[in-house]
Amino acid sequence: MQVIDIHTHLITVLNVCKHYLGINFLQSLINKHSLPFVLALDNLIPFTKKDTLSRYADMIRSENKTAKQLLNKLIAESQGVDEFCILTINMQNMGGGKVPQSFEDQLKDVIKLKLDGYPIRIFYHADPNDHQCISLLKKYEKFIDGIKLYCLMGYFPYDKRLDDVYALCVKNNWSVISHCAPENPTHYRGRDIDKRLKESRFGLIEGKNNRQKAANFAHPIHLKETARLNTNINFCAAHCGGYDEIMKFLDDKQSWTRLILDSCNMLDNFYTDISCTIASQKAYDFFRKVLFMTNISNKILYGSDYWLNLGTNVHSAYVNDLKKEIGLQDFVKIASQNTSNFMKL
Ligand SMILES: [Zn+2]
Repeated sequence: MQVIDIHTHLITVLNVCKHYLGINFLQSLINKHSLPFVLALDNLIPFTKKDTLSRYADMIRSENKTAKQLLNKLIAESQGVDEFCILTINMQNMGGGKVPQSFEDQLKDVIKLKLDGYPIRIFYHADPNDHQCISLLKKYEKFIDGIKLYCLMGYFPYDKRLDDVYALCVKNNWSVISHCAPENPTHYRGRDIDKRLKESRFGLIEGKNNRQKAANFAHPIHLKETARLNTNINFCAAHCGGYDEIMKFLDDKQSWTRLILDSCNMLDNFYTDISCTIASQKAYDFFRKVLFMTNISNKILYGSDYWLNLGTNVHSAYVNDLKKEIGLQDFVKIASQNTSNFMKL
């Protein structure tokens, strides 16, 4: 059985919209003069390996690599992992400005890597606000292995316009991974956000700005409802609610994490991945606690969120520390057995 990293990205600078980081000036500097900018960071600020700025510089460097360079680095640094699920990203409809490369060209780049023999599986980012969502999916159907949802970009997972996507999921045995953590620079920036939120079937969290309001789209309550309505499809709430929600869970407070774990317990087709949550000893304690809750131990999936995880650690340390902390047996369970069940392999 293959050991699989269920959640990775090969996002390059060509795939991000103009206002991605929220700071236009910084982003344009990075876009236009990335190398001198990173060198200046490296030279001017005497930080050690673990400093935030150093990690940030590393992330900026990653953004400026090609998909192939990123994949080679990922494979080289992921000891003991056989396959990688590449989650594509379509930022063209989030109201954050222009994206240099079309989503179709991004897809073609990743498909080429697959055809060249790289051990990858491709997750198609389905955004119902993109008029090409279904046509592109059908065009490249035979290369696709699953669906990625990024609801923070302004839609609910039970959006009627996704029905055709779910029909293709049933036809092809695809599973769905949905970003499930509250606040993020990647969110819907449009002025009509309140109108879109009216489509909610549940109560809303108050928010002062788009970033806070958009969190509603990614709330696990909506994914749970979608999984309940589509019992033939497996759904994964990515990031287990995110680090902050996991910390709330550990303090016995109401949290997205609690709702996700309850849903894993209640619904056969509901899973979660631990990507980008491994940042402290406290998180490892959480994994041990969750992995040993036997009723849901088969619902936890290994994912790294490469290269976005570089904000918290060096990737090789990320994989190796996790193996050390939870033990090889549990690592293989979440990265192989559980993943195979989730992906219906
Ligand atoms: Zn991700």
